[in-house]
Amino acid sequence: MENGIKTQIVVVGGGAGGLGLVRKLACEYRRDTHDVTLVDMNRTHIWKPLLHEVAAGSLDASMDEVGYGGHAGKWGYRFFLGKLESIDRENRTITTAPLIDPDGERVLDRQEIPFDYLVLAIGGVSNDFGVPGVRENAMFLDYRQDSDKFRHKLLNACFRANLAKRSGEKGKQQVRVCVIGGGATGVELSAELYNAATKLHKFGLSEFDDKMLKVTLLEAGDRILPMLNEELALTAQNELSELGVDVRTSTQVTEISKGLVHVKEGASVEADLIVWAAGVKAANETRGMSDLELARGNQFVVRPTLQTTKDERIFAIGDCCSCTLPGEERPVPPRAQSAHQMASTVLKNINSLQRNEPQQDFVYNDKGSLVSLSRFSAVGSLMGNLVGGRMAIEGRLARLAYASLYRMHILAVHGLLRGLTLILAGHVNQIVRPKLKLH
Ligand SMILES: Cc1cc2nc3c(=O)[nH]c(=O)nc-3n(C[C@H](O)[C@H](O)[C@H](O)COP(=O)(O)OP(=O)(O)OC[C@H]3O[C@@H](n4cnc5c(N)ncnc54)[C@H](O)[C@@H]3O)c2cc1C
Repeated sequence: MENGIKTQIVVVGGGAGGLGLVRKLACEYRRDTHDVTLVDMNRTHIWKPLLHEVAAGSLDASMDEVGYGGHAGKWGYRFFLGKLESIDRENRTITTAPLIDPDGERVLDRQEIPFDYLVLAIGGVSNDFGVPGVRENAMFLDYRQDSDKFRHKLLNACFRANLAKRSGEKGKQQVRVCVIGGGATGVELSAELYNAATKLHKFGLSEFDDKMLKVTLLEAGDRILPMLNEELALTAQNELSELGVDVRTSTQVTEISKGLVHVKEGASVEADLIVWAAGVKAANETRGMSDLELARGNQFVVRPTLQTTKDERIFAIGDCCSCTLPGEERPVPPRAQSAHQMASTVLKNINSLQRNEPQQDFVYNDKGSLVSLSRFSAVGSLMGNLVGGRMAIEGRLARLAYASLYRMHILAVHGLLRGLTLILAGHVNQIVRPKLKLH
């Protein structure tokens, strides 16, 4: 608090990193000395690593999402609905764009929000690498709306195939999905689609079976899952093939037209649904938002302390930042665990900055990578640099470890007591609720 005026701490983006951070900031400071504000362009939060399950229909996002308004009321921070448009470093304000509803009516005007400390946690979006036709003809899994849109299209395609089979109409009895990108998102989505397909016949699509689903997974590199060792990646690839996924490595997509994926090597792939999951960058809007330094993928460049290079009072965390730690050649990877860990460092650094104490460098503790193959299996490596290497895990143990990632997020967002209650409620829901969301 300076001269009786409250200190304004603003976090933009309530995702894997930002939502837990804003709760902790609100718990840290007294209401009469500090205002903690969260700005997000959506009204609700869903943990991004769940989006492929929402897309396949195996998770009802409404059960897991967190409404920002209610969360803010519970933890004592302010929530502002709006999309970050610009950052004025000189006047210490951010501006959010006007909010227009689908009928074209203005809901909110352009807003100016003052800050003393600003944390940018606006995440990333899929990187189309400039491949022609991707934006127009492929879908992404960047936000909940994308996953909902994919699910609706998938279900419609399944209904059509089901009807064609019932009426004996030849040539229309398949649902062809082409997934581009053999990283965690593409692999997890491919497996999850088969999980959903095995259940559809119980949900009114009596003729549908998983053999009617044809998923092709294209990867430009010579193997899938580059973050895992070769053996684990091969295990995952074999499991996908057993499910029915046509995995094609060393296959570079050159263009996407309507219903057709053109590749450099071999024949084009025809598909009813095309999903692009081949890389992460920060949104193009970050260019022109401010004079802060940006990396090639539009991310805000930060120092090891997570302060932006040009402004010590503006921090960036998670997928929207580019943080190359001393002695490392590559930036910290865009993962939920990175965003979560960065949030903890920023909490400490905002504290020390106010007390004129030195800033702490961020230490990335790689806890390994886990990839879920839906209910069928999981593969991954645990511990990372904690044991000076990686411990490969598969199957039930890997599934348990994978589930614990989300539990940690729930605890960060809701605190210990509420978090544990919600985890318990989640288990009950898994038992009593339908296994698919078909709407
Ligand atoms: C399908 C899928 C599976 C994944 N699986 C894993 C996994 O298993 N393990 C793992 O570690 N990582 C995984 N990831 C990556 C992980 O989800 C991200 O690294 C993580 O969510 C990044 O956190 P973040 O806080 O930086 O951003 P996000 O969690 O993306 O949150 C960003 C927030 O900012 C808001 N926002 C965006 N732009 C603006 C704006 N201009 N103004 C206001 N608000 C804005 C968004 O609404 C959102 O709430 C997966 C990602 C996907 C898509």
